[in-house]
Amino acid sequence: SKSCPGDPITFYNPNMESAARTRLLLESEMRKALECGQFSLHYQPQVNASTGDVTRMEALCRWQHAEFGFIPPDEFIPIAEESGLIAMLGDWVLAQVCRQIRTWLSEGVNCQRVAVNVSALQFFKSDFVEKVANTLKFYGVDGSFIELELTESIIMSDVNENISRLKSLKELGITLAIDDFGTGYSSLSYLKHLPIDTLKIEKSFVSQIAENAPDLAIIEAILALANRLDFDVVAEGVEEPAQLAFLQAKGCDFYQGYLYSRPLPALQAATCFTPHKTR
Ligand code: C2E
Ligand code: CA
Ligand code: CA
Repeated sequence: SKSCPGDPITFYNPNMESAARTRLLLESEMRKALECGQFSLHYQPQVNASTGDVTRMEALCRWQHAEFGFIPPDEFIPIAEESGLIAMLGDWVLAQVCRQIRTWLSEGVNCQRVAVNVSALQFFKSDFVEKVANTLKFYGVDGSFIELELTESIIMSDVNENISRLKSLKELGITLAIDDFGTGYSSLSYLKHLPIDTLKIEKSFVSQIAENAPDLAIIEAILALANRLDFDVVAEGVEEPAQLAFLQAKGCDFYQGYLYSRPLPALQAATCFTPHKTR
């Protein structure tokens, strides 16, 4: 629409309307997609930085829409969160991961752990721990096969309330990771008080290892801290050999990234696991 001199000022913005329409459309499409199985999971190897072994994966959700094609999670996860659909999607993801672990174990694949992303809305549902426990039980998967990835903002939003929830999850044998570590505002002192196993270094830090001195210092500090406090550290978004070399030199435990592999469909991911050691 063309604006003419003398027109009344309006706040109407055609882009705004179409963005809202897209959201509504995606929301209703997501409902259908959950029912008719358009979602799938890809798995990205978490490589042991000192041995090169692969026994862990991170599960990442994928949506292949019949008309719109591939819709990236950065687009649909926020909509799923705002509309409340994330609860259903999250349940589906965990169930799917448990089923996949069962399949891999029955095939003799050396899968020891799969990390699952958890969004705030999912974590704060009062029956979250119960649901997780039931899903593990239903699929006959021990909690030690699951790592839940939570963001700092989730954990810090109500630390006292969260500690008891985190402890209940630990009682199931589940391990807990802080995702995108280093991007939040939290004080580091809370790390001592929380039952956290793993810190995941956000990929934006890793990507600038070569050229950005402050980010280098941040990663070094995170690794030093993690080693002192005995956390596992997983670096995200490792794309270049020089980044890996730096991380290895600083004692990073695991890395994920295109350097080793993109996230893959389950069948292909299965071939990445290091075989069981036979003696
Ligand atoms: P995230 O948890 O931080 O996941 C890491 C993202 O980095 C993934 O994007 C992954 O594909 C991408 N990545 C991995 N290696 C590299 C690399 O070497 N270079 C670059 N540039 N990127 C790399 P993806 O799969 O598009 O997922 C985006 C975000 O969507 C995730 O970020 C996570 O926050 C969210 N997400 C994905 N699946 C789920 C899910 O099942 N549940 C929830 N709640 N969130 C999910
Ligand atoms: Ca993650
Ligand atoms: Ca990240």
